[in-house]
Amino acid sequence: MTAPAVALKNVRKDFGTFTALRDVSFDIADNEFFTLLGPSGCGKTTLLRMIAGFEETTAGAIFLYGDEIENLPPDKRPVNTVFQNYALFPHMNVADNIGFGLRMLRWSDADIAARVKQMVAMVKLDSFAHRMPSQLSGGQQQRVALARAMAPKPKVLLLDEPLSALDLKLRQEMRAELKELQRDTGITFIFVTHDQEEALSMSDRIAVMSAGEVQQIGTPSEIYEFPANRFVADFIGETNLLAATVQSVDEHRIDCVLAGGETITALANQPAAPGQTGYISIRPEQLTLTGSKPSGDSLPGTLDGAVYLGTDTQYTVTLAGDLRLTVRMQNSQTGAVPLQHGGPVHVSIADHAARFLVD
Ligand code: ATP
Repeated sequence: MTAPAVALKNVRKDFGTFTALRDVSFDIADNEFFTLLGPSGCGKTTLLRMIAGFEETTAGAIFLYGDEIENLPPDKRPVNTVFQNYALFPHMNVADNIGFGLRMLRWSDADIAARVKQMVAMVKLDSFAHRMPSQLSGGQQQRVALARAMAPKPKVLLLDEPLSALDLKLRQEMRAELKELQRDTGITFIFVTHDQEEALSMSDRIAVMSAGEVQQIGTPSEIYEFPANRFVADFIGETNLLAATVQSVDEHRIDCVLAGGETITALANQPAAPGQTGYISIRPEQLTLTGSKPSGDSLPGTLDGAVYLGTDTQYTVTLAGDLRLTVRMQNSQTGAVPLQHGGPVHVSIADHAARFLVD
């Protein structure tokens, strides 16, 4: 088996008395698009800077392709970084920006010219090679920064919120381009973001972080559909979190009682026992609202509000026990169902959609 591109073993980082990362251990495979996702201050950038060699570990070890890198200075690591603010050299044109690192590495003029040509083509800037950065759009500047970072053929590319300076439309376009670049080059990408949509749309796997700790590692669908805990369920996408108590357990299926006395059957994220308390998590799009009682199981409630969102409408419902639920339904489904504001409604849960999260 080949060594992982990056292996973190019990990594800890203290800044004085403040612990920014505690006991972080995971592997990133070669050729993987791996994302560090979490709210501001959770330690994503610190972890990236330690892999790059700009920050020392307080404890633990980092391995690149099987070799411990503690004593390797940043420029000797097979790693390059793309920053949020591009950091292009303003007095150099596109070609010179892209070739800059290669010149530092003492590549020959011919090799630099050939590689620059290849890189401008790769980021679709062939006809812009002689433009100055100030003559480029934000998206084009970010593509130059990517080309410059990939030119020396790093094995691992670290990307620290590289799309956050772009407007929404451009950011969405760049997601597809980044994913394509990663696939075409086979470079291992470690991407840092606090934007869950960005993480879900591009990554092979995601590490969700909070307060210096990894909460869960998994593919986008694993993380979205089987969140490990309340933090992950709440941070990734939207969810309804309802306090619940376990009533009975049948392998992975758990019957739980809500505050209002209603029972919901859920799948559990870890073993649970009767009497245990936790939360039921249900995504708004897994709920259906009807005016009359459907034939299957449903929860009775009162419709408090509806917000039209174009393709969907988001409803707010109050259940017994004063529990609030958000329901999101496609408008094509709801067209025929007249729902009265303040009136009685019934909420049905899609099969296997409820999760019980041990507190
Ligand atoms: P953001 O998304 O805002 O960039 P982040 O998840 O990347 O956040 P880090 O920049 O890694 O977070 O910071 C993690 C924590 O460590 C923060 O609380 C930060 O204030 C602290 N920190 C980072 N660098 C230092 C430093 N040099 N000295 C002291 N504290 C630091």
